[in-house]
Amino acid sequence: MAETAQEVLKMIQDENIELIDLKFVDLFGIWQHCTFHRSLIDEEAFTEGVAFDGSSIRGWKAINASDMSMVADPTTAWIDPFMEVPTLSMICSIKEPRTGEWYDRDPRSVAAKALEYLKSTGIGDTVYCGPEPEFFIFDDIRYDQNEHEGYYHIDSSEGLWNSGRVEAGGNLGFKTGYKRGYFPVAPSDTLQDIRSEMLLTMGKCGVPIEKHHHEVGTAGQCELGMRFASLIQAADYALTYKYVVKNVARKHGKSATFMPKPVFNDNGTGMHTHMSIWKNGEPLFYGDKYADLSQLALNFIGGLLHHAPAVLAFTNPSLNSYKRLVPGFEAPVNLAYSQGNRSASIRIPLSGGNPKAKRIEFRCPDATANPYLAFTAMLCAGIDGIKNEIDPGESLDVDIYELSPEELSKIPSTPGSLEGALAALEKDHAFLTEPGILSEDFIDNYITYKLDNEVNPMRLRPHPYEFALYYDA
Ligand code: GLU
Ligand code: MG
Ligand code: MG
Repeated sequence: MAETAQEVLKMIQDENIELIDLKFVDLFGIWQHCTFHRSLIDEEAFTEGVAFDGSSIRGWKAINASDMSMVADPTTAWIDPFMEVPTLSMICSIKEPRTGEWYDRDPRSVAAKALEYLKSTGIGDTVYCGPEPEFFIFDDIRYDQNEHEGYYHIDSSEGLWNSGRVEAGGNLGFKTGYKRGYFPVAPSDTLQDIRSEMLLTMGKCGVPIEKHHHEVGTAGQCELGMRFASLIQAADYALTYKYVVKNVARKHGKSATFMPKPVFNDNGTGMHTHMSIWKNGEPLFYGDKYADLSQLALNFIGGLLHHAPAVLAFTNPSLNSYKRLVPGFEAPVNLAYSQGNRSASIRIPLSGGNPKAKRIEFRCPDATANPYLAFTAMLCAGIDGIKNEIDPGESLDVDIYELSPEELSKIPSTPGSLEGALAALEKDHAFLTEPGILSEDFIDNYITYKLDNEVNPMRLRPHPYEFALYYDA
């Protein structure tokens, strides 16, 4: 892997690269790209950047101020395994060519600002993140949910019923029972080879890979494990992960989705995110408090729980996100923390007494999140907790799903809808705006975009389930 512009330019020569594909992330976590002939890429691509029209990118510039530059990060260069023509891929941050400033709606630049802010507080200098995106692989991209990976899903009064797998050439008799997909061997697991190819391909794209497995979701839910990394690199990895997963699935005539709840009454798809803060090479989350946490880590948790409803506007930014955050599917519903307890929204994984492994796992995020904005929102909420010594309250060491309604009513819940999370963000965003990470304009633009393009259009449409409820009314 290259480190510097010179190394990338040498790589272009040595590997006979013809084309350079420059990618950047939009506000909603989707990679956008433009492909350049090698003759157009020189050292300036890494400093001033390469010009493009930013006006047609959702939620960005108006047409009268549309000139933008993509500035390539040489440490993100890899040869694109999906392109026939030798193509080098690089991830970019966005500059305003007129001022030379980083664009304040560019999520990757926002994340860089959050790290500068952390340093300026003196609290720490490095943040490690470990995102865990899950996904489903389906055979069919029709949105009617009737056939997924050869299953029929029938919503009856008893809930979801799988009638069995229909392979090409007939039903060979292996039926994965409801919630029994985690994780019997082949031939029950039909996706092993695809996941193996995904894992190895990711490795070629510079993502440090660890493992893969089937997930609990019956109809082809999967997860690949990658190593943690520093905040921006981890967000780069998360998008590379999604790119590889979707493209390998496509190569096999399938499609992969990161939608948080694609199948009614089956497990949803999360992107749990592990996080820890370090200073001068030393981990700061290890200590002598609850679950071997430091006081600083407890205050980080306090801040994250306190601001969680607003943070979820970034970590769980889709309408569908809130169909996942319901009881009974290993997804968090209540804003609490606990060691080992997977029903709490913050879990403290065991670290075997190793200070370097001490971290928190925030279980709310899903992969519809823009990872740069999601990690930034988590970090800033945590920093606010540290600065204001926010007490996280008592840990919750029971299965939250088993509590009585009265006990449960004492624990705050995650917002029930995207609208709820956006309303929370509207009220509570000083932890992002006061340090100058996001502007008021960014917050307004984001909330308005989500209301106008997601919340309100959904509210205007009759839902299929309304027909089941009311057609005979
Ligand atoms: N799929 C679960 C979720 O929606 C998580 C399962 C796990 O713990 O890996 O968060
Ligand atoms: Mg998982
Ligand atoms: Mg996890």
